[in-house]
Amino acid sequence: MSASASWIARDAAAVWHPFTQHATWTGDDPTVVDRAEGPWLWDVDGRRYLDGVSSLWTTTLGHGHPEVNAAIAAQLAKLDHSTFLGTTHTPGIELSEALVALAPRGDGPELTKVFYAGDGSSAVEAALKIAYQYSTQTGRARPKFVRLDHAYHGDTLGAVAVGGHELFHEAYRPLLLETIGVASPGDRANGADRCARAVADLTATMDAHGDQVCAIIVEPMMQGAAGMLDHDAHFLRTARALADAHGALLIFDEVATGIGRTGRMWAAEHAGVVPDLLTCGKGITGGYLPLSAVLAAEHVFAAFLSRPGDTSPRTFFHGHTYTANPLCCAAALANLRVMGEQDVVARAARLGDRLGKLLEPVAAKDGVVEVRRLGTMIGVEVAPAGDRTGFRVCQAARAHGVWLRPLGDTVVVMPPLTLGDDEADLLADALDAAIDEVL
Ligand code: PLP
Repeated sequence: MSASASWIARDAAAVWHPFTQHATWTGDDPTVVDRAEGPWLWDVDGRRYLDGVSSLWTTTLGHGHPEVNAAIAAQLAKLDHSTFLGTTHTPGIELSEALVALAPRGDGPELTKVFYAGDGSSAVEAALKIAYQYSTQTGRARPKFVRLDHAYHGDTLGAVAVGGHELFHEAYRPLLLETIGVASPGDRANGADRCARAVADLTATMDAHGDQVCAIIVEPMMQGAAGMLDHDAHFLRTARALADAHGALLIFDEVATGIGRTGRMWAAEHAGVVPDLLTCGKGITGGYLPLSAVLAAEHVFAAFLSRPGDTSPRTFFHGHTYTANPLCCAAALANLRVMGEQDVVARAARLGDRLGKLLEPVAAKDGVVEVRRLGTMIGVEVAPAGDRTGFRVCQAARAHGVWLRPLGDTVVVMPPLTLGDDEADLLADALDAAIDEVL
């Protein structure tokens, strides 16, 4: 029995995996990852794979970067954990300053405060609660959220409610927040004028329900888990204007798009639009430790400050045991520092362009519906739909030494931002060969 087979048997006996149908999973021959370095993963049998999806879209500098490792080790030697409730600590303060300095600038408020959470979903959850409480503390309670069709914002109850996947709502419907779905500006089913349709839908929705809406939540420029649905910057400008006109907040969920992934530090920069709340996660620590954050505008923070004569405390009653864990903050600080020193965001833009070129022959193949890309966020939609085609392409790519993961019929390509030219060639060649074998 190979080492992988033995570990898979032990896994089947004791593990419950996320988003996984366990009746069939082990039959899919999962990879048992053992170690990683740079853009490479090795399984327990010593087989090497290029990490084509950045270990679920997190890896920026590659695995095992010596400076990030050293920063975590140094922090561990100094302070492992100390609560952020009633005390503070230096890495938490420094990271907040760094994030505020990096925050997007443009049409909208300045983002001046940072609230920490543990993963993307919990950052979204915090942002939703902030938005609702903001409405109660600045006028009157607005219980509704506007969300896009096909959106994905995570799995906690609030985050799943503002998602646009019926499949993820079905089992929990009685527990979900009240939301209003509007057409996605990236939805190909809505044709070439999809952005105009989405703008019209959002405008009509806000005209009809605006006084009930506390926030509009959007993944700016690219709806990732929806299948890499890119959209026009015009949609974001409209969302900003409509939120302002109706007194609602605008939330940009940059958990997937943030930290250089789209070739800019924030996807918001492609549109020059600044939201009132911005969530980030995934790449913030470069994939080393779990951390996420909500960047908030000063006017939002100010609504949570108590005033003489208040009848309610105005406090944001929210936080976790590991909020702003110092090791996670140290990892994020090191990741952001190295990214700055090595101009990784500009490198990501160049890598994205290179991958775009390399994938042109793939885009022209029969069975490839479309290649969609913004920076290094790439989706290769394959057909026939609904036949596990995307999954089969990823399995075939694995045999060529590249690890990929599909979103339904869309094969995701999201490598570490520092991927070298030879590795980019390997990735594109493997995908090309895998598609030929499967389609
Ligand atoms: N928001 C977006 C845009 C995401 O893509 C994701 C995860 O893919 C999340 C939120 C949830 O993040 P996490 O899986 O870290 O909870």
